[in-house]
Amino acid sequence: MSHDYVNILGVPFINTSFAEMESILTNHIDKQEKTFVVTANPEIVMYAKENKDYQKIIQSAHYVVPDGNGILLAANMLQKPIKERVTGFDLTMSLLEEGNKKGWHVYLLGGREQVNKRAAENIEKDYPGINLVGRHNGYFDWEDGQVAEEVAAKAPDIVLVALGFPRQEEWITTNYHRFSKGLFMGVGGTIDIISGEMKRAPEFWQNLKLEWFYRLLKQPSRWRRVLVLPQFVKQVRQSRKRD
Ligand code: UDP
Repeated sequence: MSHDYVNILGVPFINTSFAEMESILTNHIDKQEKTFVVTANPEIVMYAKENKDYQKIIQSAHYVVPDGNGILLAANMLQKPIKERVTGFDLTMSLLEEGNKKGWHVYLLGGREQVNKRAAENIEKDYPGINLVGRHNGYFDWEDGQVAEEVAAKAPDIVLVALGFPRQEEWITTNYHRFSKGLFMGVGGTIDIISGEMKRAPEFWQNLKLEWFYRLLKQPSRWRRVLVLPQFVKQVRQSRKRD
């Protein structure tokens, strides 16, 4: 099936509803097809624009989904509206639900040790049908490839990679050749939420499209990242004029 895409500053976003995306990914997992998903927000798009290697990584993904209201705003500015926001958090939750019914094998990579451990415990408690085949914190030596070998040996159906961007996407592409199957998705701060370490922005903030502001209040160290947003809007506006 061919899909509709919206190109935002060089990043091709798939344009589906959340339910459609969920069913596309479920289908790949059921068929044991190896799949790479990027959940991208304006920070990622801007970073990819400046870093060609990272841009290539993003473009090599099977699907780039719009994880951020800024992406929907940009799509509207380009007069190519995207149907719905598809966040890494929501996708993770719905895939865990599905996996709970189907007995999928899941590997949890990333986060600080305590966060990773607690997130794993919560998944085992809340989704007893899932087989959590392994976990590892996100602070390890990439060079020796040991963690990647472990993931490859366990051949999970889903590998949740929470190393923050751009590391999570880099780790996935660097090691992709080792894996025979599985859905590989960079999920950033989702692991902090599953572990209970961080709270997702309440709906009130989400509805006002101010989730980014809520996160900034909770983690003031993120201020630098927010600065990228006006720049993002400006560049999308400029790209519209060029087209
Ligand atoms: N993280 C990690 N290894 C690293 C850097 C980050 O495991 O080398 C984890 C971090 O502990 C956190 C998650 O990645 O649990 C998401 O980090 P961040 O909020 O920076 O992600 P982003 O929003 O950039 O995707």
